[in-house]
Amino acid sequence: MGKFYLTTPIYYPSDNLHIGHAYTTVVADALARYHRQIGDDTYFLTGADEHGQKIQRRAMAAGKSPQGFVDEIVAGIRELWSLLRISHNDFIRTTEERHARRVQAIFQHLYEQGDIYKSEYEGWYCTPCETFWLERQLVEGKCPDCGEEVEKIREESYFFRLSKYAGRLLEHIETHPEFIQPVSRKNEMVNNFLRPGLEDLCVSRTTFSWGISVPFDTKHVVYVWLDALTNYITALGYPDDPGLFQRYWPADLHLVGKEIVRFHTIIWPIILMALDLPLPRQVFGHGWLVLDGGKISKSKGNVIDPVVLVDKYGLDAVRYYLLREVPFGADGTYSEEALVLRINNDLANDLGNLLHRTVAMIEKFAGGAVPAPAGYEPLDEEVIREADLARQGLAEGLEKLEVSTALSSIFRLVEKTNKYIDTAAPWALNKEGRRERLATVLFTMAESLRITAVLLVPFLVETPQKIWNQLGLNGDPVALKPETGAVWGGFPGGTRVRKGRPLFPRIELKPAEAKGKEKERETAPQKPEITIEEFARLDLRVARVLKAERIKGTDKLLQLIVTLGGEERRLVAGIGQHYEPSSLVGREIVVAVNLKPAKIRGVLSQGMLLAASNGEELALVVPEKPVGEGAGVK
Ligand SMILES: [Zn+2]
Repeated sequence: MGKFYLTTPIYYPSDNLHIGHAYTTVVADALARYHRQIGDDTYFLTGADEHGQKIQRRAMAAGKSPQGFVDEIVAGIRELWSLLRISHNDFIRTTEERHARRVQAIFQHLYEQGDIYKSEYEGWYCTPCETFWLERQLVEGKCPDCGEEVEKIREESYFFRLSKYAGRLLEHIETHPEFIQPVSRKNEMVNNFLRPGLEDLCVSRTTFSWGISVPFDTKHVVYVWLDALTNYITALGYPDDPGLFQRYWPADLHLVGKEIVRFHTIIWPIILMALDLPLPRQVFGHGWLVLDGGKISKSKGNVIDPVVLVDKYGLDAVRYYLLREVPFGADGTYSEEALVLRINNDLANDLGNLLHRTVAMIEKFAGGAVPAPAGYEPLDEEVIREADLARQGLAEGLEKLEVSTALSSIFRLVEKTNKYIDTAAPWALNKEGRRERLATVLFTMAESLRITAVLLVPFLVETPQKIWNQLGLNGDPVALKPETGAVWGGFPGGTRVRKGRPLFPRIELKPAEAKGKEKERETAPQKPEITIEEFARLDLRVARVLKAERIKGTDKLLQLIVTLGGEERRLVAGIGQHYEPSSLVGREIVVAVNLKPAKIRGVLSQGMLLAASNGEELALVVPEKPVGEGAGVK
């Protein structure tokens, strides 16, 4: 147990935030929730960086005051974080009085000790990036970051002696390999910026007024670095209110996008050195969530609104996708198809299905009460081992900030438990009256889910409690530490399950455009009449596909495992040329269940699924809305 102080960048409220900002903040939130769960004294800061010429210009264009302009956008940011259930402890705005006053004190202090001096600036300025560039840094005369036109400017400015501390910083970076992560970003900083030598930094401007004024020279406003970067300490009360500052500084983690690693690993540590303050333990520069090969940006018109996604797919589905899809540190590609696939495969088919099967079988075979286990066999021990690995995977993954890896170790447990059910076949144990073995298997299923719920606490905000409720458990999984609460055997005896709604409804993708030209169909002649009694002999039921795979040696036949609610069946179906096996999992189909079992290609088929065909196209016959497996078809 210790303390953990982490920050996101403070976002620039010139526009509403998009999915890329949501990504950074959800990752930070997962880390904060994890550190709280393991008992660390955790402080999580986010906020908004509200000054600068760009905001002033945009406000003017919108006919608003700069403050009125940012107030509106910041209100939207706060709503978004509330929607995504971001658990920050503080939200700092650089327009707040507490921040402005502290920035002025820092500026004054650095000026008095000679680290800030007045001179004249001449150079190139990129307005969209609010960055000064030297002639040699321009790329074909344009901004090296965004590629926009730059303006030549000359003005009186205050400068910060960056150069004075370059040697000390280089030494710190070399002796603290964890300081800049991933390591590729460290090499870039050292080779591209530190070794060629640092220029002193322009820290005031006179060409616009939307900023914090320099206390002893009020025609200047403090220019971005000393205003924005210092939020990480002013929010803690530095320098005049040291309570939180003494408790949490230095930061354990500044989470930043890769485009601002340079400011956080060169300018920021030097500001701290000049203030004689300890440096943050780690700056982690993560990749971007990109779209169509490009960074998501307003100017590219490819922004994805997280509010719309949450509305359409649900909060935990969107959080899961953001945390799972992108290997943290690298760039990830956003696509709605990938999001839907994640929801359907991982959340609906794997996790949702596991809970559904477990609760249904405990109701059907054990009267709704989770039985006590009666001795473990090697098959059960494999699940127990996977649960241990999932708990270790969570700790190791999140210590290394490999959020996606941590999540996949939890979902390996889910997958393993689903396979375990297929092999252990509780329905067969029930039929054979093997009560003790059945008790162990049902317990193992429930206990694996209980552990999964505890391990998912940092990532998903509604699902762990929903799993908890359906398992009939009391209390709150959030209150349990993984190292004690996610250890095998903790399921209280006699707990009664409470069947609930599916955790994650499957998302139906729009059917593909009908292929090929319409042509005249030959209608088959009608078969001889039958009576209603004859029809009633056919037992048709709704089944849900749990698993589908191709049968080797044929591209026509698929083997499906379906559930009829409690009971599972194996079917062989000649639909392999029309359906990909993975597209069937989770779907409700109609099955003739009292057809005499038949062996097809060595596989015993216990029923037949219904499909419509015109000789070319084939379509499954399915209930028009979900009715639940086992429902009769008349
Ligand atoms: Zn630029």
